[in-house]
Amino acid sequence: MDNFTKKYVESFMAELIAKNPGEKEFHQAVREVVESIAPYIMAYPHLLDQKIMERMVEPERVILFRVPWVDDKGEIHVNKGYRVQMNSAIGPYKGGIRFHSSVNLSIMKFLAFEQTFKNSLTTLPMGGGKGGSDFSPRGKSDNEVMRFCQSFMTELQRHIGPDTDVPAGDIGVGGREVGYLFGQYKRIRDEWTGTLTGKGQCWGGSLLRPEATGYGACYFAQDMLATRGESFEGKTVLISGSGNVAQYAAEKAMRLGAKVVTFSDSNGFVYDPEGMTEEKIAFVKNLKNVRRGRIKEYVNQYPQAQYFEGQRPWGIPCDIAMPCATQNEIELADAEKLVAGGCWCVTEGANMPTTPEAIALFQSKKMLYSPGKASNAGGVATSGLEMTQNSIRQRWTSEEVDQHLHTIMSDIHAACVKYGTEEDGYINYVKGANIAGFIKVANAMVEQGLV
Ligand code: NDP
Repeated sequence: MDNFTKKYVESFMAELIAKNPGEKEFHQAVREVVESIAPYIMAYPHLLDQKIMERMVEPERVILFRVPWVDDKGEIHVNKGYRVQMNSAIGPYKGGIRFHSSVNLSIMKFLAFEQTFKNSLTTLPMGGGKGGSDFSPRGKSDNEVMRFCQSFMTELQRHIGPDTDVPAGDIGVGGREVGYLFGQYKRIRDEWTGTLTGKGQCWGGSLLRPEATGYGACYFAQDMLATRGESFEGKTVLISGSGNVAQYAAEKAMRLGAKVVTFSDSNGFVYDPEGMTEEKIAFVKNLKNVRRGRIKEYVNQYPQAQYFEGQRPWGIPCDIAMPCATQNEIELADAEKLVAGGCWCVTEGANMPTTPEAIALFQSKKMLYSPGKASNAGGVATSGLEMTQNSIRQRWTSEEVDQHLHTIMSDIHAACVKYGTEEDGYINYVKGANIAGFIKVANAMVEQGLV
């Protein structure tokens, strides 16, 4: 990067930080994009004149609201509700809802910003948005979760719709929560539309939507591995998380011949040196989705496995790491452990799980490394396919959806290669994903005028 471009990046970031103080995750996500995009923008001065980046980092709208609800003992609680409608240049706002105690405006804005680029990469007409609450479903009864979802949707419903904003699940929002949210939306609006995605299979949900993020990440990883003449066959894979993305990433990696040896949650991780089987993954799905238990219970069922309280899995030797839990879960020290343990491919299932210092280390070692906005885009892409099926009042078979998903992931990989291949042949997936995602949104914004 030349000095002029560096100065542009630094003054852009200084202004962003001054205007959005304390929003560290948002600053991190924007810096990563601006550093990739700046050299590209310099070559197209009309994008500078049009202040496209300045417009892209300012959400079109942020909705902040009160969510009051009553627990099973009759006690009243109040949580914060958010919806960040980031960018609608290429389609209605689209992005998940996160229920987790850590949720704040910075996390909502970073996710909505990332989502804009990710949705553009999918090739489907979807803008970027994200929402959520600092409510945690963990330890709550089904009735408490239902009352919370109903209160949340009572406000949110006036801001969303099938052609306006289409939310989906994310951390803490799975099939149960989407059901309660949709039920309340339908009751108040008196209309049955595909306004939420990730719906139940018997009421408008697309086949393969639950699997799509994890499966899509594995399809993307297959293409990454193929650039080095490799495949999942016989590789050792570390997976973090044990929720939706982790479960299906593990399932697909295992079916493609890999040995998946870890799962985690926010309390610790389990290491099973014998690797996952269909039966073990079914156990984890039941444990997390039905019994809503903790991953440490895995070792009661499979005593050859070990549980490590308060630790992340990155110290276990492996070929491939797939972080599928949350943001900033691979810090520099974790990345050093991965490198020391022989890891040479990192495919993100979660959003921004790797810190900038850790990414720099992976890239300096010329490892295969893909950012979530590229490799986890299969989830939102299949949400887009769910919207299409709802609009045309049809349902595709899983084979049809899987074929679309596969094609979309390969197209995203090809776009990363096109825009991210450096002079020495190394594929910089961060640069590739950011530029490819940016071009479409930027052109749409220019063509639509100053709105
Ligand atoms: P789930 O709620 O199903 O699972 C989240 C998992 O991550 C759980 O195992 C959870 O453990 C763990 N986790 C959450 N917070 C932390 C933390 N602070 N430290 C350690 N572990 C944590 O969510 P998803 O699987 O849907 O989402 C996982 C990631 O994938 C997120 O980054 C999400 O944004 C991203 N993503 C999800 C998509 C989807 O389709 N669902 C699409 C694209 C990206 P615990 O049980 O202890 O909370």
